[in-house]
Amino acid sequence: MKVTCLLCERPFSPSPLQAKKLRKHPHRIFLCPSCHERISTKTIARRNESSSAG
Ligand SMILES: [Zn+2]
Repeated sequence: MKVTCLLCERPFSPSPLQAKKLRKHPHRIFLCPSCHERISTKTIARRNESSSAG
């Protein structure tokens, strides 16, 4: 089974847990592991806001 990531629009294989949820809610959208990590990293980074250098 393949799902398309909402952010990068790339197909990826969902984790067993995600696949289970997808069966119940086929219209749900999931993020691929890398995008998921990116978002959580961003969320954490926002808390530790520092002057960005480019
Ligand atoms: Zn993605």
